[in-house]
This record gives sequence, C-alpha cells and structure tokens, in this order.
Amino acid sequence: MTATTMQAPAPIEATAAPEPKYKLSAHDRCDRKACGARAYAQVGIHTFNKAGEPIVGELLYCAHHYSQHEPALAARSSIASVVDEREALVESELARKGANPNGNGFS
Ligand SMILES: [Zn+2]
Repeated sequence: MTATTMQAPAPIEATAAPEPKYKLSAHDRCDRKACGARAYAQVGIHTFNKAGEPIVGELLYCAHHYSQHEPALAARSSIASVVDEREALVESELARKGANPNGNGFS
C-alpha cells in the first residue's frame, strides 16, 4: 500500500450548513469483521467489563450488516440503545442524484 490510497469522494456540502441531523459520521465504521463500510447504525448493549462492572458496549453497523443483524438484535433483552440512521443513506443518495440529475450515477 502506498501513501496515496483511494478515498471516497467527499459529500457535497450545502452552502448553508444544516445543523447535524445525524449522530454518526463518515468517521464511524462498521465493526463487522473485514467490512469497514460507513456505519449507519449504532447499538448499545448492556455487558460487563473485565472487572465485572456493568457497562454499555457500542457496536457500529453499516446499513447492510445492520439490516442483516437487526432481527437478532431486536430479540435481545440486553439492548441499551439503538441509533438507526439508514435513512441518511437514502437522503444522501437522493441529494447526489438531485445535484447531478443528468449524471450517470457515478459522478
Ligand atoms: Zn458492514
């Protein structure tokens, strides 16, 4: 791997910056093994640390893996919190198409 790695194009920013609607950003990545896609869901799970103290561990999922794991997660009683921002993925896709209505989808 060289110093010049491929990067996803930066999202197109509106001139008037809207207040942050979503908690998760492009810095948040899916925790599933060998995935690393942008996370769109964060699940807090009641668990215990090494000292046996109750803590809330957080798992991040990309849209694909969250959709895959959502039924199993929903059945767990140890869920502390769920942040589901998959609609951001739809919004960004619509915004991208809107910004480039005659594009080929690969702008
Ligand atoms: Zn993933």
